Amino acid sequence: MAKKTASKTIKKSTVAIMKERAANRSKQIKKAKANLKKASAVRAAALKKAALKKAELAKLLGPKSYSADELKKFKALILEKRLETMEELDTLRESIMDVTTGEYVSENSTYSLHMEQGTDAMEREKTFLFASRGNKFLNQLDDALVRVDNKTYGKCRICDLLIPKDRLLAVPTAQTCVEYKNTNLPCPRGKIAVEMKGEDD
Ligand SMILES: [Zn+2]
Repeated sequence: MAKKTASKTIKKSTVAIMKERAANRSKQIKKAKANLKKASAVRAAALKKAALKKAELAKLLGPKSYSADELKKFKALILEKRLETMEELDTLRESIMDVTTGEYVSENSTYSLHMEQGTDAMEREKTFLFASRGNKFLNQLDDALVRVDNKTYGKCRICDLLIPKDRLLAVPTAQTCVEYKNTNLPCPRGKIAVEMKGEDD
């Protein structure tokens, strides 16, 4: 009789313990799941923040190169400037050539003897200066055309970022950001890009 009661009690307590354990387990599982969820939410938020920062940075630094369409437009502009410069050089050449002989005017040519010597020499010096500038510009335009073909046109030599379109439209031979041109220091954007380039190496 006592034995029966005892076994019943044991049975009862075993069931109770098992129930209690099961309840504890499910509580623990719930807690673990909640923790996991919390951790993954934190991780997701961190990733989102990092992605946002990266996107912000990418937006700040801008695209890595000009599109084929944009390069085509730059090429047209360079070719236009090239033609203009060649025409200017032709005009300059004509102005320092003797119209009757087709030869360059020199100190002992009859043409120049009839001119007022001083003014004539000064004018010619100016013309030669313009011509040499024009030739230099022509070379720079040719180099720019090579960069268009290489698809590197518009990249700053210092920071590798794209030189803003407005600057290239005004100075199609530009090879650096205007800040570098004026100060010999990269622009704020360029400084970030240069630092990032160092981290990648
Ligand atoms: Zn730059």
